[in-house]
Amino acid sequence: MSKDTKNAIYNEKLPSGLPWAGVIKKGQTFRIVDLEGCQAVDTLFYNNDNLNDRYSANDTIREQGSIFITTGTKLISTDDNVLMEIVEDTCGNHDTLGGHCSAESNSVRFGLDKKYMHSCRDNYLTIAAQLEMSPKDITNNINFFMNVPVEENGHLAIVDGISKPGDYVEMVAHMDTLVLISNCPQLNNPCNGYNPTPIQLIIWD
Ligand SMILES: [Zn+2]
Repeated sequence: MSKDTKNAIYNEKLPSGLPWAGVIKKGQTFRIVDLEGCQAVDTLFYNNDNLNDRYSANDTIREQGSIFITTGTKLISTDDNVLMEIVEDTCGNHDTLGGHCSAESNSVRFGLDKKYMHSCRDNYLTIAAQLEMSPKDITNNINFFMNVPVEENGHLAIVDGISKPGDYVEMVAHMDTLVLISNCPQLNNPCNGYNPTPIQLIIWD
């Protein structure tokens, strides 16, 4: 059952490469739409009443017994709270192993001349500073719409995305949750199809 955007309390486009922060209150629904397809959306989650209690990739993976994020995934925090739950997913496969891009990873993976290219870590640090959070608060994230299959030998691959234009993922907050997004600016690997594109962010009460 798809919700009507006319009833949304928030409905904004986030251009490629930019950060975003917002609090999704308990019971509210949050949708991220991959408007043009094949766009990685790096996302962090925090208990809004205690920012030390934040999204934990390994607790989430252990609790659900799967490395991929999709419908039914409960986003578990470091204090074992359920922050949010994925309730709809038209893409079917989101990563939480690959981490976010940074000046350091860009220069190691793609060459020293790529060090100064804009990165998700830059976005996170910018917004963390505005919220008086510390760089230590920037830990493991979810890469919505990013395709990171694990090969038989255990190697991770970052390969072409599988999301189509208009694909979306929707989650319901189990508690007031601060969400930080970096709409990934990466140009050097196929996570964005080498062409970062905008996303739509929608919130319903
Ligand atoms: Zn990135």
